[in-house]
Amino acid sequence: MSKKISRLRGMYDVTPEHVWVWQRLEQIVTSILQQYGYQEIRFPILEKTALFHSAIGEVTDVVEKEMFTFTTRKGESISMRPEGTASTVRMVLQNGMIFNDPQKLWYNCPMFRYEKPQKGRNRQFSQVGVEVFGFEGPDVDAELLLMTHKMWQQLGIKNVRLELNTLGTPECRAAYREVLIAYFEQHMDVLDDEAKSRLHSNPLRLLDSKNPRMKDVIAQAPVIQDHLSDAAMAHFDGLCTILDACDVPYVINQKLVRGLDYYSHNVFEWVTDDLGAQGTICAGGRYDRLVEMQGGKPTPATGFAMGVDRLVELVLDHNLWEQQAETEVYLIRDKAVPDAAIMPLAERLRSDLPGLKLVVNMGQASFKSQFKKADKSGAQFAIIMGEKEMDEQVYSLKALQDREFGQQQLSYPELVSVLKKHLPSMCEV
Ligand code: ATP
Ligand code: MG
Repeated sequence: MSKKISRLRGMYDVTPEHVWVWQRLEQIVTSILQQYGYQEIRFPILEKTALFHSAIGEVTDVVEKEMFTFTTRKGESISMRPEGTASTVRMVLQNGMIFNDPQKLWYNCPMFRYEKPQKGRNRQFSQVGVEVFGFEGPDVDAELLLMTHKMWQQLGIKNVRLELNTLGTPECRAAYREVLIAYFEQHMDVLDDEAKSRLHSNPLRLLDSKNPRMKDVIAQAPVIQDHLSDAAMAHFDGLCTILDACDVPYVINQKLVRGLDYYSHNVFEWVTDDLGAQGTICAGGRYDRLVEMQGGKPTPATGFAMGVDRLVELVLDHNLWEQQAETEVYLIRDKAVPDAAIMPLAERLRSDLPGLKLVVNMGQASFKSQFKKADKSGAQFAIIMGEKEMDEQVYSLKALQDREFGQQQLSYPELVSVLKKHLPSMCEV
């Protein structure tokens, strides 16, 4: 016997047992994005490696150690997308989408990072990302936060907090950068190798370090707030004022940074304590300089990415949702009734009742075993077709959960109207 091949480390399967959580989550999130007027985009899984190097930055975890990179037969270096912002910027430039118009875009797709797999950290994971181009005011930043806040509400996720900070304008940031370098240079003895190597190329990233040895030095580090210009303060205050007016609570975390050079003004994370160490379910901020750095004309931009895997885990770990039965009607038939008589009936019902979730019992089995399967499916009704029913063109409809309804003999039009009346999916149509 040949050996079974298992899946790759850090990858996972979604079986039918859990796929309903993914589907419902995606449905809720998508409908909110549409409610706010955002448009879906799709981009390739593979891009030129150079795109990620230039758009994410050389001195980042993602580019330094997490990319799945290959060389093609022709010797070109290509990579699987580790995130969506780089591809989105490439896409809007390549397709001339932000030449005159602003854009509010979203995507939902798997990303790939060669990380150490652990709870909440996979090598393939899905992100819902939003990227907005062409608006410079804090109103659109606020809209992103209001929209995500609404998502948590509708998903039933309660224990989540918004952490907010500002990195100011590029000028404020540049000044702060120098102050930070000077500060950390006084504490070289506690910096680890990674921190030392990033000190001059990306000092803000040191504030992100999870090394406990550096915790105190980071806590005492100078904060950006002391280096903000009036314009930067006004932008951040504008955002906070809108959040206050809409009753969205937040905490200001002065140590929250996005390490990438092109970030400016607000940065944020939605964090939950219900997931253990990997508690950030959504992260984002304003990146006004990126489009220009990628060869476009200067275009203000802001966005976020949400970890769908972590949200699914949250729902499952805390039993936030109840699973609904996927079958509504189970069609049971006598052994003597041929397939060629039963299948057209099922087809007719599916055509007359679009949305109806109808399962036909496959193969031949006793009524007892078919009823068992019908009960297990969670269906509300069984249609029972014996020889007599076929001959007389009547339909026995039995309620599997509603005792009062019992079993009724119906004509075809009656069957259709009773199902229409009693099934939730029919009300939606
Ligand atoms: P971290 O510091 O935890 O590595 P990050 O800065 O790499 O986070 P982002 O690139 O900002 O994360 O991605 C946005 C969101 O995508 C994260 O907040 C998280 O919810 C999710 N995410 C990122 N990496 C993974 C992963 N390997 N597995 C599952 N979800 C992930
Ligand atoms: Mg990471």
